[in-house]
Amino acid sequence: MATNIKALPKISLHDHLDGGLRPQTMIDLAEKIGHKLPATDAAELGNWFFESADSGSLERYLETFEHTTAVMQTAEGLSRVAKEFVLDLHDDGVIYGEVRWAPEQHLSKGLTLDETVEAVQDGLEQGMSEVEAAGGFIRTGQLVTAMRQNNRGMEIAELAVRHRDNGVVGFDIAGPEKGFLPVNHKAAFEYLAEQLFPITVHAGEGDGVASIRDAIVSGRALRLGHGVRLIEDVMFSRAEGDTDVVVLGEVAEWVHDRGIALELSPSSNLQTGAISMLGETMADHPFDILYELGFKVTVNTDNRLMSRTTLTRELELLMSTFGYSLADLEQFQLNAAEASFQALDDREELIDMISEGFANA
Ligand SMILES: [Zn+2]
Repeated sequence: MATNIKALPKISLHDHLDGGLRPQTMIDLAEKIGHKLPATDAAELGNWFFESADSGSLERYLETFEHTTAVMQTAEGLSRVAKEFVLDLHDDGVIYGEVRWAPEQHLSKGLTLDETVEAVQDGLEQGMSEVEAAGGFIRTGQLVTAMRQNNRGMEIAELAVRHRDNGVVGFDIAGPEKGFLPVNHKAAFEYLAEQLFPITVHAGEGDGVASIRDAIVSGRALRLGHGVRLIEDVMFSRAEGDTDVVVLGEVAEWVHDRGIALELSPSSNLQTGAISMLGETMADHPFDILYELGFKVTVNTDNRLMSRTTLTRELELLMSTFGYSLADLEQFQLNAAEASFQALDDREELIDMISEGFANA
């Protein structure tokens, strides 16, 4: 019997709130605020998102987020999307999900930054209560994100810290990577370090090794989202006797030796061209090389709507491409649990749940 991957306990560390909406929800919310969507049928709208994201055109890819964020400008819109986000993760077997999003992109209808964070937290808690009432288990944490091309890093960092006892577990920067190094937000990262507040940074997706280095040095990143282009700092040479010799550059070596987790998102990495220097198919993804070399790899969805995917599907894709066993899949979940921005005893609880779930599979 084939293993039911969906039923296994899983951890999701990199999943954008504005990239995981249900098409029907978008239609409902758009109607209320008079926003025009590219399609009014849920299935057609879902297709439009996938095709636009898959078109290879960055403009079309970015246009998809204009529509999702447009319907998330009210407390009602934010809460509903957050609640359904939790229910959808639970349905996929996720027991802990970190939810990232950028409050500064949700202010056009008059909400304050604090009100947006509260509205999202309210929705997450509604989702968690509903799961619990039905006898299920899921925990969530918000990753409050600043847009790297804007100059609100400090404001967003302070916002994140203000809500650390109300669901916010970490800070991130997102948006165009190339030309917008973390050093531009150095003061915000220093403030977060002083506050002992966890940081993950999008790096090694739209830019290469120098960007990853700066995410660690200026950004003080404890994890890398996605970090996939770290592979550019891994050198292979064929030595005498057909043995491959692998040499890690200093950034790759640091990430490797410190166990800094990589938030890899296989389908998204293909769609955004992050690994286009290696090829166009899943078999070209460096996931397996990084795993074999001992990097702390984790598996993520990034944007479930745009990539028309789930964590289960990403794991199935990796399994069929690289021949992974259940033990490999379990290791990816353990890596994610260990790297999650939860307190140690909560991480240990997640680890126990994963071990138990996989042992019974
Ligand atoms: Zn991302």
